[in-house]
Amino acid sequence: MLAGSIFILSLAGLPVYGQSSASSASAASSTTSSSSVSTTSGVSASSGTTSVSVTGSGTTSAVGISGSGTTTSNVTKTEATALTFTLAVTNPTAVPLASITANETSLATIPLPSTATPATSIVAANYPPMDKVPPTDSSEVQAWIAEVQATPTVAGGCPANLQAAQDTSRCWWYCTGCVRDTDVQECPDKGTWGLTYDDGPSYYTPNLLTYLSANDLHATFFTVGSRCLQFPATLQEEFMAGHQVAVHTWSHPYLTTLSNEEIIAELGWTKKIMKDVTGVTPNMFRPPYGDIDDRVRNISIAMGLTPVMWTRMSATATFDTDDFDVHGGLASSYGVLNNWENIIANASKIDTGFIVLEHDLFEESVQLATGYILPSAMQQNFTIQPVVQCLNKPMTDAYIETNNNATNPPAASGAVTLSSGAPGSISTSPSKKNSGVSLKISGTSSALALSGVFAIIALFL
Ligand SMILES: [Zn+2]
Repeated sequence: MLAGSIFILSLAGLPVYGQSSASSASAASSTTSSSSVSTTSGVSASSGTTSVSVTGSGTTSAVGISGSGTTTSNVTKTEATALTFTLAVTNPTAVPLASITANETSLATIPLPSTATPATSIVAANYPPMDKVPPTDSSEVQAWIAEVQATPTVAGGCPANLQAAQDTSRCWWYCTGCVRDTDVQECPDKGTWGLTYDDGPSYYTPNLLTYLSANDLHATFFTVGSRCLQFPATLQEEFMAGHQVAVHTWSHPYLTTLSNEEIIAELGWTKKIMKDVTGVTPNMFRPPYGDIDDRVRNISIAMGLTPVMWTRMSATATFDTDDFDVHGGLASSYGVLNNWENIIANASKIDTGFIVLEHDLFEESVQLATGYILPSAMQQNFTIQPVVQCLNKPMTDAYIETNNNATNPPAASGAVTLSSGAPGSISTSPSKKNSGVSLKISGTSSALALSGVFAIIALFL
């Protein structure tokens, strides 16, 4: 039986690749008067040339199918040497059919209408041999391997990993605030607040959803995969209510301490359960504790997840309410609101919008959000939006299945990114990303003085 396999029809000498299927066989049989090709099995049974009539350009033509066996490899072509019909229209400049042969002399080709000048000169010697798997011992490949093979950190954060914290090429946000262009750390437009809640869904998330709905507010929920498994209906309600849902890992670990394989498992399982529950796959993610370095970044981006942090003006001015710590007794409700006041004051000093760290895992943080923080924020006329929308992108761009490349094209590397300065952004104002807001460290910069590193580390003790 040839069903599903490829065979070749010889149409007046022109090879046409077709697929043996019930539909094509029945289409052929509808115009066949005396053919064995009335069903798919009829094709497989052919043992010699079979005449089949097909309709083309209003003309019935003869098509030869040669087959001496029942497998594709035994099917041979019959080369026609003349047309048995007349095409209705041909190109006046067409090369004569008799000249289009395997051993024809190559003719002059048409030059491209225009050519772009590459940013760097393309020299073949600078690349691996064409059409072969490139060797892995080149400096370029070794550098790419190193991007995802940096040694994981050990438990204990910055003090326990001083060398890693001092390594500016690692770009470890948790210890130094270092961001890359792929990171989202603020909303581009001043007065805009990218509203986010982490660690849910939880028992208290419906309380928050009810308040948000009553006030026509929408947020980004960075959900933990394990909580999605525990509260799938709540995750679904977040999505259905028009909130953005995004990844916050499966078990909330310090990602820089995990192996590449473990990071992939954390992100992959969370993406999967969110897809299973909502039908869509998120393309944003927030690393727990903000614990991300280039190795974690590169893995997350390779998995289609853009890192989203929270705004950080300096080591002492992060947009973290510390609401998470009220439940554990490490912070007071008053302290959280004092932090909020400082955030508002700092927001007025920067020329971009901002993103704040809040949580919906515990009752206390939801009570503070719905009772105090959100009401006061609405009074202050902030534009409160999910992160994807504060980046001036439609909600559909928040998911792999609905992302529109017209407004959010893939980066040149092929990775999907959602940074606010992404080409094709529909932002009406130029991106102000990183303009005096964040501590930006390039991969080769050694601008960060060691004393500064230790000062920053001390803050995390
Ligand atoms: Zn978290």
